[in-house]
Amino acid sequence: MQQDVERILFSESELVDAVELLAGNLTEAYRGSDLTVVSVLKGSCVFAADLIRRLPIPMELGFAVAESYGDGTTSSELSVHHFPAREELDGRDVLLVDDILDSGRTLSALRTRVLARGAVSVRTCVLLDKPSRRSAEIEADFRCFEIDDLFVVGYGLDFAGRYRNLPYVAELRAEVLAGSLASGSGEAG
Ligand code: 5GP
Ligand code: MG
Repeated sequence: MQQDVERILFSESELVDAVELLAGNLTEAYRGSDLTVVSVLKGSCVFAADLIRRLPIPMELGFAVAESYGDGTTSSELSVHHFPAREELDGRDVLLVDDILDSGRTLSALRTRVLARGAVSVRTCVLLDKPSRRSAEIEADFRCFEIDDLFVVGYGLDFAGRYRNLPYVAELRAEVLAGSLASGSGEAG
């Protein structure tokens, strides 16, 4: 796995520091709120697990499973396979947590669904933000890092289902990306 990596963008210790800083901001923002964190799977599982353990405030946890079919490195059609029930979101302050904000279609669609289930507020929180790729009207309310238009893996992010377990965020070697660009991975989040 490591031999497929071209370069590390964010090391384990940089991720720890960034999550700590973010958790501090979220703690201030949501003190006294009825917070429900909705982790968008699969990509945000590692980030969300690290993040929520650094929030010293009451909160509930939910999951959304959104799957985008694309050519492996870009997202296109979105389908939502799992989403919290109305009872879990009604009257709550919802924080949508995802790995990366790219075109914005995923979080934009999920935000609409969250509000439709009665949430009082909905904000977005991402590990990575690629503002240059945005097509939907949405911004990250909270984010750790802004990156250029490049395809990254690790710390939850996959390529064709693999590399989620890398403990850092990295770029893959061009040969690895070229290897399976032809077939859509159909991986959730
Ligand atoms: P959006 O709907 O914002 O275009 O796409 C968000 C989803 O696309 C992310 O949750 C992630 O699954 C996928 N995605 C976007 N950019 C990248 C990337 O650089 N690397 C990986 N592994 N997935 C990405
Ligand atoms: Mg993905």
